Amino acid sequence: MDPTELEELQASIRTIPDYPRRGIQFRDITTLLGNAPMFHRAVDELVRPWTGAKVDRVAGIEARGFILGGAVAHRLAAGFVPIRKKGKLPHETVRVAYSLEYGLDEIEMHRDGVARGERIILVDDLIATGGTAEAAVKLLRSLGAQILAACFVIDLPELGGSRRLQALDVPVRTLVSFQGH
Ligand code: AMP
Repeated sequence: MDPTELEELQASIRTIPDYPRRGIQFRDITTLLGNAPMFHRAVDELVRPWTGAKVDRVAGIEARGFILGGAVAHRLAAGFVPIRKKGKLPHETVRVAYSLEYGLDEIEMHRDGVARGERIILVDDLIATGGTAEAAVKLLRSLGAQILAACFVIDLPELGGSRRLQALDVPVRTLVSFQGH
């Protein structure tokens, strides 16, 4: 994408101040998703480095990672595996806890969601502290998956999530970044 296209992509994301709490600038991708050329462009650009590569599955993080991840999986002719909040998946799961600003949360996936040695791309809409994505990496690796990359449309670099994933040897791809939280 050239710089003008990236600016257009960034401008297609709506910012809601003080949502869901005071001090948070919520980056709302529903405006991007509703814009046909922008959605198409964002998905293509997100996985451009892996177009034509062998990718077994795309792992999407609930819930916006499902929308982008499904489209990415189709683009790469890969399968899709959902990573969900606990208690939502019907079959046998593996689960990992991770810390939030206040307290703990847990995510899980089906134990048979990926097979040992499979090549996986992880997708979510946004990386902030990287806590959620790090938990997803741990889950996938606990099942023997090989994580090729983690892809996010939006980076909040001040929160350090990209660096946190890179420290785990996960290549990170993001398209646009915003200052602050
Ligand atoms: P983190 O685990 O801190 O990297 O947070 C990432 C998750 O929280 C992603 O699933 C995002 O969708 C969501 N999230 C965090 N901060 C924001 C924000 N400012 N705007 C929209 N979503 C956010």
